[in-house]
Amino acid sequence: MYWSFLMRTTYETIKDKLMKSKNGFYRLISVAFFLTFLVPNVSSQSGGVLSPRQAAYDVNFYDLEIAFDFETKTIEGSLLCRAKVIDPIDSLELDLRRTYDVDSVLCALNNNTLSAVGFRHESGKLMINIPEDATSDQVVTVKVFYGGAPPLTSGLPWSSGFDWNTTFNGIGYVGVACEMDGGDVWWPCKDHPSDEPDSVALSFTVPQPLECVSNGVFVDSLHHGDSTTTFRWFVSSPINNYNVTFYIDEFVLIEDKYSSVIGDSIPFYFWVRPSHYDRAMEMMEPYKEEFDFLESIGGPYPFGHEKHAFAHCHYPGMEHQSIIAYGSNFALNSWGFDYIHLHELAHEWWGNLLTAKNWADVWIHEGIATYTEALYVEHIAGIDRYFDYVHNIWPSSSTVPLAPRQELTTDEGYDLNPYYRGAAVMHTLRYYLGDEEFFNVLKHWAYPDTTDYDNTNGRQCRLVTTDDLLAQTEDITGRDMDAFFEVFFREAWYPKIYYTRYESEIAFEWRTQTGVLLDLNIPVVANGVEYTVEMVDGFGSLPVPGDAELVIDPNKWLLDKTPEELVGLNQQFVGKGYKLEQNYPNPADNRTTIKLTIPKYEHVSLKIYNSLGKEVLSVFDRKLMPNTYETTVDLTQFEPGIYYYIMQVNEFADTKRLMIR
Ligand SMILES: [Zn+2]
Repeated sequence: MYWSFLMRTTYETIKDKLMKSKNGFYRLISVAFFLTFLVPNVSSQSGGVLSPRQAAYDVNFYDLEIAFDFETKTIEGSLLCRAKVIDPIDSLELDLRRTYDVDSVLCALNNNTLSAVGFRHESGKLMINIPEDATSDQVVTVKVFYGGAPPLTSGLPWSSGFDWNTTFNGIGYVGVACEMDGGDVWWPCKDHPSDEPDSVALSFTVPQPLECVSNGVFVDSLHHGDSTTTFRWFVSSPINNYNVTFYIDEFVLIEDKYSSVIGDSIPFYFWVRPSHYDRAMEMMEPYKEEFDFLESIGGPYPFGHEKHAFAHCHYPGMEHQSIIAYGSNFALNSWGFDYIHLHELAHEWWGNLLTAKNWADVWIHEGIATYTEALYVEHIAGIDRYFDYVHNIWPSSSTVPLAPRQELTTDEGYDLNPYYRGAAVMHTLRYYLGDEEFFNVLKHWAYPDTTDYDNTNGRQCRLVTTDDLLAQTEDITGRDMDAFFEVFFREAWYPKIYYTRYESEIAFEWRTQTGVLLDLNIPVVANGVEYTVEMVDGFGSLPVPGDAELVIDPNKWLLDKTPEELVGLNQQFVGKGYKLEQNYPNPADNRTTIKLTIPKYEHVSLKIYNSLGKEVLSVFDRKLMPNTYETTVDLTQFEPGIYYYIMQVNEFADTKRLMIR
C-alpha cells in the first residue's frame, strides 16, 4: 500500500509542476531518462509534420496480436495494417521503435494474397516495399511480424513505455501509456494524430491467471495448454494510436449499467484491484453523477455501443478510449471530487470523440478537460467555488501562442500550457458569449449534428483544428469570432487593458500583440456599482466621474495582463495639436497608410471622399484615446483617381489629397 500512496503524492507534485512548467518538468523527465539510458526513446516524438509517404495513405484497420513474456520482459507478435492509398506509393511507411526486431513482412494489394516483401527498419521508421506501385483508391495490406523489449518506464503516463512489475501477491502486471511518444513505442503504426483507423482488432496472450482488458468490446478468451490465455477485444470506433492499450493484472470486476441521456443502457465496468473493491463500490454513485454531468454539457457518452470502463492501474491516469486508466485510489480532492476520474472521463468527449489532428491544438483535449473540472466544481459547490477553481489554475504570462499555426509534436504542443491557459481561455469565452450561447457552443462542438447522438458506427468521432471550432462557433452564434480567436489562440501574449481617467468618464482600450481590435466587453465596478464597458473595435468608455474608485474585472473573467492606467503615455500627447499626416505611399496602388495624432480623448472621424465630394469609406468614427494612430486602408475596391480624406474632431477638421493609380 505504501507505493500507491507514494505514487499518488508524487503524481500530485508532478502534475503541479507540469501545470506550472510543462517545459521544465519535461526536461526533468528527460534527465531521468538519460540517467536510465533510455534517451533514444525520449527523442521520438509523436506528430509534427506528416511525412509525404505517410500523407499518401489513410489507415482503415489495424489488427494487433501480441504475446507477453514476463520472464524476459519482451513482447512478440504481429500487426496487420490495411490502408487506402491517396497518392501513388511504392512503399508503405510505418513507425516502429528501433528497439524491436522485425522478422518478416507480408504485403498485398487489394484482395490479393499476402506474400513476403522486402523492408527496411531504420531510425524508428519501417519502410515496406509494395510489390507493384499502388495507385489512388487501391487498398494496401501489410502484416509485420516483430518482437523485442519495450522501453521501460516508471514515470507513466508522462514518459512513455511499459511498466512491468509484480502484484501484491507476487504475480506480474504490466501496463502501457504512450501519449507523448505515440503507439510506435510498442506496435508498428502511423504515429500521427491526423489519421485514425475506423476499427482495431486486439489480441493479447498473457500468463495465467492474469487477465487482460482493453479498448472496445470483449470478443473472447482462450486458455492454452502452456498456461497462457489469449484475450481478444474489438474497437469499432475511430481511435488514435496512443489510446490503444491494455491492462494486464489480477482484477475484480464491478459491473453495472448506466442510463445515458439518450436512453441507452451502457455497460459500465470497473476493473479494480481486490484491495480497493469496497472503496470502489462506494464511488460508483458519485462516478455516475460525474457521468450525468458530462453528458449534460457534452451530449451522450460517445462510446456507449462499446462500453464505459475504467481499469485500476499503477500510474495516475490516461484517457485510453472506452477503458480509461485510473490510478488515484478513489480519493476525493479538496474540492470534493475525484479529479483523475473526472478529468480522464472528460477526455472521452474532449480528446476521443473530438480529437485534435495537430498537437498544436492540444488545448482541445487538455484545456477543455481541465475547464470541465471547474464546471463540475460549480455544479457541486456553486459559482463562487467555480471562480476559486479557475483562479487557482490561472496561467502565468506567456510568450508563445496557445494554438500556433504550425504542425507540432506532442512535446512542443504540451509546452504551450494547454491545461491552464486552455481552461482560462474557455472561461473568458464563456464570458464573451454568455452562458446560454457558450453551453450551446460547447455541446455543438462535441456533436455538430444531433442525429449522431445514437450513432454506433463511429461517424460521431471527428478530427478537428482550432479553425474548425472557430468556424463552428461563428455558425452557431452568428457572431464574428475572428478577433477573439486571433487574440486568445494565435497571439503569444495576453491582451492588455489600458484606461485613462477624464473629468466625467473613464476610457478603456484593449491593446493586443498584433493590433487586432478586440470587442470583448470589460466588467467594471466603479464606486461600488457594477458596469459592463461595451468595447467596440477595442475602445469603450464609462460615464462615471474620472476619480471614481475602480475595480476592473472583479471576477477575473478576462485572461489579460494586469490593467494599466495611462498617465505618462497619455501626457506625451497632451498639449500637442491635432495632426493629420500625408498618406504613404502616395500615389497608392492597393493600400495606403494614414497617420494621425489626437491629444485628447475625443470622438474622431476619418473618412475618404471621391473628387465629387461623395463619401466612399469611413475608416473610423468613434472615440479614441490620446495617441498617434497609423491605419492601413485597403484601396482595391476603388477606381484610380483623385480622392480626399478628412479627419474631423469637434470643430477641428483637416483634409489631405490621396491619389490612387
Ligand atoms: Zn488530460
